[in-house]
Amino acid sequence: MTTIITNGTVVTRDADMPFIADGAVAFDGTTITAVGPTTEVLAHYPDAQRINANGRLVMPGFINTHMHYYSTFARGINFGGRPATTFGEVLRGLWWKLDRMLTLDDVYYSAVGPMIEAVRCGVTTAIDHHASPFAVRGSLARIAEAARLVGVRSNLCYEVSDRDGEKIATEGIAENIEFVQHCQRLDDDMLRGLVGMHAQMTISARTLNKLMEAAEGIGAGYHIHCAEGIEDVVNALAIYDKRVIERLYDAGVLGERSLAVHCVQVTNAEIEMLASSGVAVINAPESNMSNAVGCAPVLKMLEAGALVGMGTDGYCVDMTESLRAVHAIQKHEAHVPSVAWGEPHQMLFENNRTITNRLLSGETGVLRPGAYADIIVVGYEAPTPLTEATVASHLLFGVAGRNVDTTIINGRVRMLERELIDIDEQKLMADSRQQAQALWDRI
Ligand SMILES: [Zn+2]
Repeated sequence: MTTIITNGTVVTRDADMPFIADGAVAFDGTTITAVGPTTEVLAHYPDAQRINANGRLVMPGFINTHMHYYSTFARGINFGGRPATTFGEVLRGLWWKLDRMLTLDDVYYSAVGPMIEAVRCGVTTAIDHHASPFAVRGSLARIAEAARLVGVRSNLCYEVSDRDGEKIATEGIAENIEFVQHCQRLDDDMLRGLVGMHAQMTISARTLNKLMEAAEGIGAGYHIHCAEGIEDVVNALAIYDKRVIERLYDAGVLGERSLAVHCVQVTNAEIEMLASSGVAVINAPESNMSNAVGCAPVLKMLEAGALVGMGTDGYCVDMTESLRAVHAIQKHEAHVPSVAWGEPHQMLFENNRTITNRLLSGETGVLRPGAYADIIVVGYEAPTPLTEATVASHLLFGVAGRNVDTTIINGRVRMLERELIDIDEQKLMADSRQQAQALWDRI
């Protein structure tokens, strides 16, 4: 059965026809079948079911290339003690305390909440990085269960690290490998896997070797935090006499199917390594600001030819927040207001798509025939003319995730005119609150 979204201001992200003032997008099953002027598409499919966009923006769904669903349960948590004064204290005082407490049910519910928020914000694909050291085995299956329920296109991995001992590191390796193989058997682009590592500074040479041996031949890339804070650099220099990117580059971790997240503390030589290896660099501006780790040299990395995308790192779900944050912090850091106009859009709409599509058989992040029907309708009333020439400015300064009215993922309508479909939000969020409270009570 074909469905057509009609009468939209369609922003396709397809270079052949980027903007259609009165456009329509038809899809059947999981796939887009036609994109064009409303009258033309309707003439092709006179009997199709229709969703009238009434002039609203119709776009590909947003992509988040670095997320931590489990971080949701930190919202309101209180471990007591004085506030962290360094990034290392943030990790030890909050994240590593929280993730050690997670049970498999916590993993499930901490993913359900932000996935529902993702649907509400028009985020149709997310690449997650998960840790629950005392509930490693089966954790990715529980996130996958949440993803199936809510319907968000997902790529999952487990953050292997040595910080809880060898047994848990070994479990993390097995969790990654088995999950990747499970996804390969399913061969469904709604669920894919990577091989996760927490960070250079929490992976010993021995664990890295074991992990890379286990991952050999399975064809999955790696997903790792790199040079997020100065602590990671100090550690790499002290133990390996190399900088962070240098160590990972030499080990063969970086490559076209891998994600190097943050890359805040990198030298020019390391930027060259990021660019030449083809690895995806993921910038998470709000998280970096919040952790006070510095500002990643995004403009320099892009100029050097690195593929730099954008993720929220669990700080938020709405990708338009990150779009604005990159725009502002890069200007702020450069002390030059004329920079960083095009790059944030390139990162969010082009590079995040390239990064994701490398990991899929099919294609998302674009409205054209053959691509997955990952489509959003955005109820944004433009106060100034919205045209092909001005749409980037409206997306930067006007559109927010909360404006999304309708979210379709893989051809499945997950939200229609703000109404979630087959998702009992009230019940799931009530259960999530109860689950979170029980975790907090164990502190
Ligand atoms: Zn992260």
